[in-house]
Amino acid sequence: MDYYHSPSSIKDALSMAGKFSGNYTIFAGGTDIQIYRKQQLDTNEHIIDLSGIDELNSIATKEGILHLGAMTTLDEIISSDEIQLHYPLIAEAAKSVATPVLRKTATIGGNLLVKNRCVFYNQSQAWRNGMGSCLRDVGTICQVTGGKKDCYSRNVSDTAAALIALGAEITLMTPDGITQKPLKDIYLPCGIKFHNLEEHSILTQISVPIKPKKWWYKKLRLRKTLDFTSLTVAATVDINSIARVCLNGVSMSPILVEQTMDTLTQENLTRQARKNCKTVDNDLMPLKYRREMINVFLEEWWDSIEII
Ligand SMILES: Cc1cc2nc3c(=O)[nH]c(=O)nc-3n(C[C@H](O)[C@H](O)[C@H](O)COP(=O)(O)OP(=O)(O)OC[C@H]3O[C@@H](n4cnc5c(N)ncnc54)[C@H](O)[C@@H]3O)c2cc1C
Ligand code: SF4
Repeated sequence: MDYYHSPSSIKDALSMAGKFSGNYTIFAGGTDIQIYRKQQLDTNEHIIDLSGIDELNSIATKEGILHLGAMTTLDEIISSDEIQLHYPLIAEAAKSVATPVLRKTATIGGNLLVKNRCVFYNQSQAWRNGMGSCLRDVGTICQVTGGKKDCYSRNVSDTAAALIALGAEITLMTPDGITQKPLKDIYLPCGIKFHNLEEHSILTQISVPIKPKKWWYKKLRLRKTLDFTSLTVAATVDINSIARVCLNGVSMSPILVEQTMDTLTQENLTRQARKNCKTVDNDLMPLKYRREMINVFLEEWWDSIEII
């Protein structure tokens, strides 16, 4: 039996989360999580739908910092004059997610917290049963590596790469209070527990302090629409010449290389990125090609910086 709840305030949502502890799922736009439910990868009985909480839907700039409510849709972000003018990297990343119809309901909070993916896990229950399942579900081995300990499912959030490259901070609310932390700190390099969030956390706001001097964004995928990323690279250089290059889709969490431009070389950037990416054969694109494309994208970014 499923029970649907539609709180109209964050306070109500948090009290429901406490009440249904361990047996609820948060819905934002629902574009991702509904598929998990259909595939019986999410079987919690209670659904807490955040779409009735108006205070979570906003785009505002205060004292030079952009604040995005977690329930702002990707379409609203793409259409915002403020974002197009001052934060085009965010608009570009949002535009690369899914399809125009999905972006009308998909939210920025849901995109940042989208679950990790793997071609052996994101399948129907019948398919998974046929394969013998895997470590992340009810099986005992990883179908990719044959290992019994580690899962390498991929973080695929495109806007996470862009917002980490912009040094974004997030606000989380729990029944115990409010926390603010750098967005990059909520991701863990683990394919099973990939989000570092306290119990009953609701992401409420994303704050972006940096208007970069330069930005760059590129996504590798099979088709130009609909497909999840096989590799996303977002990069910025700020007014203090600090480069922030963030890769996603190639490891369990986004990989950030942050360094001043005067000490960065193309070789050490590629070495740092490749060393931290635990890229395995769990995407539709072949492993060797995806690994090679990391070098290609980083080289393209490096060349674009030299030209500017
Ligand atoms: C065909 C298709 C293509 C897609 N392509 C892409 C793609 O290219 N790139 C990409 O990144 N994604 C893609 N997605 C996944 C998804 O559509 C997007 O990531 C979308 O932005 C998720 O937002 P949502 O609001 O629908 O999240 P939901 O599906 O509602 O939620 C996603 C997850 O986040 C949690 N959550 C959501 N909001 C909060 C909050 N405020 N606080 C705490 N937890 C929260 C939910 O519990 C859930 O686990 C695709 C999905 C489909 C169906
Ligand atoms: S990487 Fe291995 S354990 Fe993780 S979801 Fe894929 S098959 Fe399962």
